[in-house]
Amino acid sequence: MAADAGRPAADALTRFVVDAAGVRGSALTLDATTATLLAARDYPPAIAAIVRELAVAAALLASALKFDGRLVLQAASQGPLKLVVVECDRGLALRATAQWDAEGVAALPTDASMKALAGGDPAARFIVALDRPGTQPYQGVVALPDGPVAAAIAHYLTTSEQVASRLAVASRGTRAAGWLLQRMPPPASSLPDDDTAREAAWQRIAAGDDEAAVTALLEGDDVESVLRTRFAWDDVRMLATAHPHAGCRCSEERVVRALRIAGRDEIEAAIAERGEVEVTCEFCNRRYVFAADVARALVGDAPTTPQ
Ligand SMILES: [Zn+2]
Repeated sequence: MAADAGRPAADALTRFVVDAAGVRGSALTLDATTATLLAARDYPPAIAAIVRELAVAAALLASALKFDGRLVLQAASQGPLKLVVVECDRGLALRATAQWDAEGVAALPTDASMKALAGGDPAARFIVALDRPGTQPYQGVVALPDGPVAAAIAHYLTTSEQVASRLAVASRGTRAAGWLLQRMPPPASSLPDDDTAREAAWQRIAAGDDEAAVTALLEGDDVESVLRTRFAWDDVRMLATAHPHAGCRCSEERVVRALRIAGRDEIEAAIAERGEVEVTCEFCNRRYVFAADVARALVGDAPTTPQ
């Protein structure tokens, strides 16, 4: 786009490999995507910050885990933050929604952690779910992170995926950036000397400053120069760049299915109240409106049990 000439491309996820250390990584910047996600609700600053960070984490995780379907990050509590959900699919389409108690959130600092936003609810949980078509959904449930979202997700990857992982996220306004480094297991043919060299390279990388790299991305430095600075001692191979974007899976077909599940009584109640049936997508705010006779026809021959 001409308007962006000379500017680094926002909303890009670039994968890279540091062969000497057996490290693969992804560097991500979001701007238009997060702007769209945040515009869907009147998020208080503290909740907006969580949505931004989760959006970065979700895109990085979705690209790292390489699966068909959706990655869902979700936190739920009885505290000021009732619910936050961020989803990312294989094509890096992101969507987000949240519910909160306005007074409770307003009483907390704008950089409150998810744990603080959960108001000390001991049952509060953070869930990493993989929703793959045709398979049982996978859910990893962890305690709510007390601190940055990135640290909790890096811990999840290191323990659940058994891959040493480092994840850093920074955000400001609508702009957000992040970075995921993962240490790959050595190839079966690896020799002891190679393992020693790889370990030394990993230790060198692990001692480096991921926050500085992510801050540079946030400030608009191009990915290549950030990588060259961060891995000054090692060769970095840049792989494909993908483009995350805001995208919702809602459709009239899905809404109709939901209405059939809701059943005739709920449809009649909605018609009695407003003369029609209106459904607003909780993620993207798209409105689906059905005239009374259309809505009645939709559930007229509906099965009585949910599918
Ligand atoms: Zn939607």
